[in-house]
Amino acid sequence: MTTGELCIEGLRAEVAGREILRGVSLTVRSGEVHAVMGPNGSGKSTLAHVLMGRPGYRVLDGTVTLDGIDLLALPTWQRARAGLFLGMQHPIEVPGVSLLASLSAARTPPSGDGDDEVVPPDVAGQLAVEADRIGLDRRLLERPLNVDLSGGERKRNETVQLGVLRPRFAVLDEIDSGLDVDALAAVGRRVREATTEWGLGVLAVTHFARLLEVLVPDVVHVMTDGKVVATGGRELAGLVDQAGYAAYR
Ligand code: ADP
Ligand code: MG
Repeated sequence: MTTGELCIEGLRAEVAGREILRGVSLTVRSGEVHAVMGPNGSGKSTLAHVLMGRPGYRVLDGTVTLDGIDLLALPTWQRARAGLFLGMQHPIEVPGVSLLASLSAARTPPSGDGDDEVVPPDVAGQLAVEADRIGLDRRLLERPLNVDLSGGERKRNETVQLGVLRPRFAVLDEIDSGLDVDALAAVGRRVREATTEWGLGVLAVTHFARLLEVLVPDVVHVMTDGKVVATGGRELAGLVDQAGYAAYR
């Protein structure tokens, strides 16, 4: 079980010349689930992308550290190696690359001696186990990544990747969108179990309290207009669900 923290402090960032994140601060510790709720356009996905280092997003101020490592100074692949994972709101299609190939590459330590083609022997088995846990058809594992998959299948695909890669911290951007109630419960349960299995820390962006009934958050943040405007316990998710975001704007 690992311990550590993902610490975001005073993060300001712009995209296309417009400041979207206007000073976000929060700290997720290993084993904790933090939910980020907020209206459309409040900057939740921007936060996810800035954390992972997507091109086109410019950091203006603030720091992001994972166990003291300055993530903002690293390229995306090194942030992943440091233990950060992003489950995307809109997972992209990668024609010609299967999930097995992609995860085998991710799990192979960088060697530089041309050995990169060697498939770590356990990845295929772990993939099958993780797929079964959340009810993803195993046949989809061999298909090109996300190509022609339904929205719900893509989200389960992201969850399978999380289970195999076992990152230290996961930013999950609307992992619940497109999932039916059964898949929602399975995905929520899988992510929650990861917090005790290996101490995963979670930053889960979601609109709906439904996911949070399974993936019970330790802390809930409400984000509007690029800032965290309220932080509380799991009861905050229920309040938002009932009353909407009007009180926070
Ligand atoms: P949320 O995920 O909370 O719905 P986003 O982070 O996706 O919000 O978007 C926040 C704001 O930033 C929106 O007004 C959106 O239009 C804008 N934005 C996000 N990405 C881009 C981009 N690549 N180019 C221009 N504007 C963007
Ligand atoms: Mg979004």
